[in-house]
This record gives sequence, C-alpha cells and structure tokens, in this order.
Amino acid sequence: MRKKLIAANWKMNKTPDETRAFFREFLPLVAGHTRDEIVVCPPYTSAAAALEAAIGSSVAIGVQNVHWKADGAFTGEISAPMLLSLGVTHVIVGHSERRQYFGETDDTVNLRLKTALEAGLTAICCVGEVLEEREAGLTDDVLRRQCVRAFHAISAKKAAKMTVAYEPVWAIGTGKTATPELAAAAHAVIRREAAEVFGEEFAAGLRILYGGSVKPDNASTLMAQEEIDGALVGGASLDAKSLAGIVKY
Ligand code: PEP
Repeated sequence: MRKKLIAANWKMNKTPDETRAFFREFLPLVAGHTRDEIVVCPPYTSAAAALEAAIGSSVAIGVQNVHWKADGAFTGEISAPMLLSLGVTHVIVGHSERRQYFGETDDTVNLRLKTALEAGLTAICCVGEVLEEREAGLTDDVLRRQCVRAFHAISAKKAAKMTVAYEPVWAIGTGKTATPELAAAAHAVIRREAAEVFGEEFAAGLRILYGGSVKPDNASTLMAQEEIDGALVGGASLDAKSLAGIVKY
C-alpha cells in the first residue's frame, strides 16, 4: 500500500511573511492528519520561514529546483548541500515551467534528479506531455522518453527516494483536469517504464502523483484511482483552506 503524498508547488509566490501567515492558518487545519504525507515547496527565499513555521508539525518542506554541482560559478543556482544545510528534505525537478521557459532538457533533469537523490533528498520528478503531443497520439512515447532519460544512470537503491509527478502540461494552471481514467492510464505507462529500468518490485512501490488543476472539489475522484498516489498542486496550494481541503479529500 503506497501512502499518498500531497505536494504544494508555490512557484514564484509568497514572501517569508506571507509564508508564516499561511502556516498559521494551515497547520491547525491539518493537525493530526496522518493518512497522507504533506510537503510544501515555497520559493528558496521563503524556505527558512517555512521550515521554522513547520517545526513540530508533520509537514515537510521542499524547494522547486536544485543544481547538479555542489558549488562554483553558477550564478543564480542553488546546490544540494545548501538545501541540506537549511533542513530542506524535498525538491521538485523537471517541472514543465522549467522545461518550457528556462531551457530545462531531459539531460539536465537527469543531472538534477541524480544529484538530489545522491544527496539524500526526496525528489519529485515531473513528466508530462504538451497538448500537441497528446493530440498527435504521442503521450505514451513522450512519457517513456522523459522517464528513460530522467532515470538514466540512477540505481534502484538511490531512486528509493524518488517520486514521479505526471503533469500533463495542458492541465497546468488552465482549470482543465485530466480525467481520473486518463491520468491513471498515463501513470501505468510511467510505472511500466520504472519497472523496465528499476525492476518490478521497485515499480510497485513507486509513488506517482498527478498534477494539473487539482482543487478541493476534484481531489477525491482523482485520489480514488488506485494508480494515483497523491497530487502535486500549484494554484490551489496558495490558499491554506484550499490546500487543506485537498489534503482531506
Ligand atoms: C503545477 O504547476 O505543478 C501544477 C499542478 O499547477 P496547477 O495546480 O496550478 O495546475
């Protein structure tokens, strides 16, 4: 039985003060909730405030990217040792907005994923097709390619701390949600690919989240699918009541 994970991706939103205000409202709403794991991923600049606000709760804190070098002349980047020294435990890699706007490729996703896992961080690796690929019947091929390239040269032992998020790009921030059946079918493709690379036993335990316009009112139908092991939530995670509503689907 895979424990579900609800992960909040705040993207470029919330100052440290806004982060503290969010946690003041959010933590009482999810106090005692043990059915699912919860992780909140603020921008780097609010990670320390989030870590402090979440002390004593079961909410873990992550960030939204990591570089593959430990240090050096990489202006604007943040390394895994920096995240570890802060106390961050989770990191998102390969988000479609990184791929779309910031030149992230399958190869750099692999480098980031590998680095995060080797550092002992829990990595949420995002994959997903754009609308044109879905309409051209290429979804399964795209997912297989993104997974094979992301998982390259990573051992099953290191990958134990990996979660995959299936995020159809056409459903992100658009209000369009994949049907639970469509998401479950994509998850099955990802799980098969994970089995090819890491083995059946690993694949059976791999958590695959769904992301794309998850809201309190559609969370329960999505989470009812056996193949869906949780959610990566963007817009609806910015409001404490809304994220709590998703956590308690
Ligand atoms: C995301 O960006 O990871 C996401 C799923 O966004 P939204 O929930 O806003 O569609």
